[in-house]
Amino acid sequence: MTAGTRAEPMKAAVLREGGRLVAEDWPRPALGEGDVLLRLKGCGLCGSDLAKIGDPRTRVPVVLGHEVVGEVAAIGAGVAECAIGDRVVAAHHVPCGACHYCRRGSESMCLAFKASNLDPGGFAEYVRVPRANVRHAMFRVPRDVSDEAASFVEPLACCLRAVRRARIERGDTTVIVGLGSIGCLFVQLLAHAGVNVVGCDPIAERADVAKRMGAVAAGPAEVAAAAQRELSLGRGADQVIVTGGGAAMLPWVAEVLRDGGAVHYFAGGAGDALPIPLDALYHRELTVSATYSASPADLAEAFRLIASGAVAPARLVTHRIPLGSLDRGVDLMRRREALKVYVTP
Ligand SMILES: [Zn+2]
Ligand SMILES: [Zn+2]
Repeated sequence: MTAGTRAEPMKAAVLREGGRLVAEDWPRPALGEGDVLLRLKGCGLCGSDLAKIGDPRTRVPVVLGHEVVGEVAAIGAGVAECAIGDRVVAAHHVPCGACHYCRRGSESMCLAFKASNLDPGGFAEYVRVPRANVRHAMFRVPRDVSDEAASFVEPLACCLRAVRRARIERGDTTVIVGLGSIGCLFVQLLAHAGVNVVGCDPIAERADVAKRMGAVAAGPAEVAAAAQRELSLGRGADQVIVTGGGAAMLPWVAEVLRDGGAVHYFAGGAGDALPIPLDALYHRELTVSATYSASPADLAEAFRLIASGAVAPARLVTHRIPLGSLDRGVDLMRRREALKVYVTP
């Protein structure tokens, strides 16, 4: 353990009342046994960060950010997973691995999972990775993988979990609604897995990115509907993954799904009731599923895909923003101008 890691201040982007983000001093985290201290190299800005910033129920002050790449600056007693100077990527949530939820594959519903976090969060100069995260949610980044690519391990892991839960297979026709960075990750992941992917987004630049990443077709709703019909020989899509648009998308989704198809909600959003007749679900044997976050196994698989170059997400980064200007990054994402914002110290 290096001396002097306690109580020294560092800079962090702190969320205050009213959704204000302020660059201010925050105590540098102290290390316990098994913990690792990272000097931040960068952290992706996630849609879930935006949701928390906009939610008046979020407890403040807090430091958000969980798509963290850093250099190991100090290690606690007993750490064997890394050495000082290593470049690593670390995720924020770790399940206990032993409870009822964990044993049945609902790791992200585990109480320990929800209670775990990075300290204080990724939008800070230094980040403490707690012992459980060091063991199960931290990976050493190979030399030929960029910081920006590595920062996608956590979001890609969430996509992998969704793909598994939605039971998507090679040869399926799948529509991705919303072609932000998550939508484009799905496109790349599924195209790599031999799925016929159709992207749906009214923004033409986003549809173009999706096509470059392997979508057979992409465009506004009419274009996506026509493309999936052709690809599925008129049956309808096997799955639709909704990454944006909320409950209001559901009537359209039911129209493009084949009988026996599945809609998967990757993100929450507006609308408390699902606008679909129960009878349609029943007679057409439709499935509605959702995923929240990712398990250690999903993280390991995502890391493998990025480390091997099978998925190359770094080109989704459209804006690089310093910690002190995080509010500008949030603005760019809200206006849908930025695909992915990468925050640097
Ligand atoms: Zn995220
Ligand atoms: Zn558990």
